[in-house]
Amino acid sequence: MAITKVWIEEGCIVCNACEAETPDVFHVTDTSCNIMAGVRKDGVDSENREEMSELNDDVQTELADSIIAAAAACPVEVIKFEEA
Ligand code: SF4
Repeated sequence: MAITKVWIEEGCIVCNACEAETPDVFHVTDTSCNIMAGVRKDGVDSENREEMSELNDDVQTELADSIIAAAAACPVEVIKFEEA
């Protein structure tokens, strides 16, 4: 299984659960959560809600389980992703 894209919908409560679960992908800011630039094909650090950038090819498979675990850990269910 692979996760091709991950993004953050509106409503993040900056609880830090996702970063604690998967720090290679999620970076919690003062106001929301970003998908880190280093794991994205567009190299941008943002929620990825507008860019909808794909994850780097190696990340899509190697961190798929970790991304799913982080999404499950989000108390307000704003971590969304696409599976291949
Ligand atoms: S787990 Fe969800 S609510 Fe908490 S910081 Fe991450 S995206 Fe935001």
